[in-house]
Amino acid sequence: MTRRIIDLRSDTVTKPTPEMREAMANAEVGDDVYGEDPTVNRLEALAAEMVGKEAAVFVPTGTMGNQISIMSWTQRGDEIILESTAHIYTYEVAAPAVLSQVQVRPITGKYGAMDPCDVKSAVRGVNIHFPRTTLICMENTHNRSGGCVLPLENMKAIYDIAKERNISVHLDGARVFNAATALGVDVKEITQYADSVQFCLSKGLCAPVGSLVAGPEDFVARARKARKLLGGGMRQAGILAAAGIIALEKMVHRLGEDHQNAKRLAEGLSQIPGLEIDMASVQTNMVAVGIKETGMDEFGFAAFLKSIGVLVNPSLPYVVRMVTHHDVTSSDIDEAVSRVRDALKK
Ligand SMILES: *Cc1c(COP(=O)(O)O)cnc(C)c1O
Repeated sequence: MTRRIIDLRSDTVTKPTPEMREAMANAEVGDDVYGEDPTVNRLEALAAEMVGKEAAVFVPTGTMGNQISIMSWTQRGDEIILESTAHIYTYEVAAPAVLSQVQVRPITGKYGAMDPCDVKSAVRGVNIHFPRTTLICMENTHNRSGGCVLPLENMKAIYDIAKERNISVHLDGARVFNAATALGVDVKEITQYADSVQFCLSKGLCAPVGSLVAGPEDFVARARKARKLLGGGMRQAGILAAAGIIALEKMVHRLGEDHQNAKRLAEGLSQIPGLEIDMASVQTNMVAVGIKETGMDEFGFAAFLKSIGVLVNPSLPYVVRMVTHHDVTSSDIDEAVSRVRDALKK
């Protein structure tokens, strides 16, 4: 019997909606390196306005967005502070070292949030031996902690420390709209505590490609140049931006459904002997499932689930990550839970 595959590896697997494909087919385009693509210009203006910044630049990926932000805020030999499991530190191929030639100062957080006291003491003073601290990065929602939301007070405390010391703040907001949805606030309530923000269109928002970097006008001008340096100056990119506009206008409001499905998934799985879930960490569209008692490691368990048509990603040791998104329904979630329950019984 072939069973429908339920893909819970990531929200990046979402496909563009029919409305996106139609908008892409009909997009008005021009050469964006000349600033002449009206659809890209529209997307950038919309993005800047939504996150409350002066300007924005459209980039192919979240990784490029984060890295051009670091390049634009720092100089070679500076030090940047971030959480020790941050995407920028864990999953971006050492790009801060390679591209910006900065040193990374990781700080261990809790549910993705750094303790402001730890941040404060990590900021370098003036001393001939020390690098300059020029950037603090936060991540909201925080991927490696299982999609946890940084509390607004935490972001504010860290932002205030940064401003006191004349340090820039970048927000890796790949899923910042999930954070805003979970907090029940306008996304500007979050982005006010960062000078620049990167967010992805290609995850829960279902666009095929793309991220935006938003911030002050002069920063965005530097970021645009850094994008060119990295080979990210695209031409008739309006075809991609057209899907991005729909992502921002039509897909943000439904992210709550993904969060409900994640809760449903977590509750279902937590009833299964051998699986362990910290319900406090289930805040958005991710579920981190502890599997140590099954006798399998995270790779073995992911392979085991694949054999029953449920795709997940290995995450931390003895933990797999499951992500809900537009292309899985609540009945898919129930089906996934029942497949896992039956398979573990045997
Ligand atoms: C996915 C992600 C990125 C990078 O996005 P890509 O488009 O895959 O390069 C950056 N930060 C976080 C927190 C992410 O989850």
